[in-house]
Amino acid sequence: MKIAYPYLGPTPLPFKSMLETFGNEVVVPPRPSKRTLDIGVKHAPEFACLPFKIVLGTFIECLEMGADTLITSGGVGPCRAGQYAPLQEKILKDIGYDFDMLIFEPPSKDLKGIIKNVRYLSKGTPGLVIFRQIQLLWQKIKLLDDLERKSHQIRAREVEKGKTSDVYKDQINKVFEANSVREVNLLKKETMEEMDSIPLDLDRTVVKVGIVGEIYVVLEPASNLEIEESLGEMGAVIDRSMFITGWTKSNAILDAVHMAGEADIKKAAEPYLPEMIGGHGQDSVGHTILYAEQDFDGVIQLAPFTCIPEIVAKSILTKISAEYDIPVLTFFLDEQTGKAGMQTRLEAFVDLLIRKREKKEAAAG
Ligand code: SF4
Repeated sequence: MKIAYPYLGPTPLPFKSMLETFGNEVVVPPRPSKRTLDIGVKHAPEFACLPFKIVLGTFIECLEMGADTLITSGGVGPCRAGQYAPLQEKILKDIGYDFDMLIFEPPSKDLKGIIKNVRYLSKGTPGLVIFRQIQLLWQKIKLLDDLERKSHQIRAREVEKGKTSDVYKDQINKVFEANSVREVNLLKKETMEEMDSIPLDLDRTVVKVGIVGEIYVVLEPASNLEIEESLGEMGAVIDRSMFITGWTKSNAILDAVHMAGEADIKKAAEPYLPEMIGGHGQDSVGHTILYAEQDFDGVIQLAPFTCIPEIVAKSILTKISAEYDIPVLTFFLDEQTGKAGMQTRLEAFVDLLIRKREKKEAAAG
């Protein structure tokens, strides 16, 4: 069995060693690129969302590399997420690829299916080994999230442009290669010290920007044209509303026991959007309000073009922006989005936030 699965930031890399321990061969596709998107666009319905097209392109690259089993996630809610996997499977089989697809649905929807998939992938591996591997996987993903969060905080003040990104990218590989929880813990200390040793200009004027939006385009840098790096290098300290460990706790662990996670975000969104409308639309609204209340300078919403939940959220964010006096910039991303155009809009936005902050500080004396 040659297994493959799409990227969602660096997170899928640690899955490789776990699946290999269970006796599988893992095909690691190249990072999503223009080629990946071009292939996806060629075979996807025209108005499919951007994540659908990138993931479809990735699956084709995996199948070209010899994968015979694709792993993906399902979805719930009133948007198209729940139809992604079956539609991608049909498109790929119509093209002529021969493979199996394992779909992981949310636990509240199909816990039995998850157990069945894990049994299939673990091939009779003893329960204790599976437990230890999942524990190691979780620690690795948690450290990757912590390092990424740290890079968001310091990049805006780095003395040498690009240093934080270089250190962070190097650290991803070290985490990927760790073989035990003990190694991950040692690595945590080492990598955090390394981050802390990056020279910073503490006198630089920086602004605080929150990032909200649909999960794939928020977490996968290839889909958002590395917006976090660009923003950081322009002088924005970033707080990303979503990380894979937080999302997993709310949407897999709590979901498995039928508890709603992120109650504070839903409560904040309630006056404007009391319903779950699919995707992360309600979260985008709730997070923006919380950022405004925490005195952030601005918010950026990332949305795939044609993403219904984020289109609804955007119409509400205009009102929130006015009521809370917080600038909100939305990017609808598709295959036509170019980095140069994005950079120009980001520069203007950060410039606006810096001037607004300076004016506020001057008024406060
Ligand atoms: S949340 Fe948006 S991008 Fe994701 S499947 Fe739904 S409509 Fe598409």
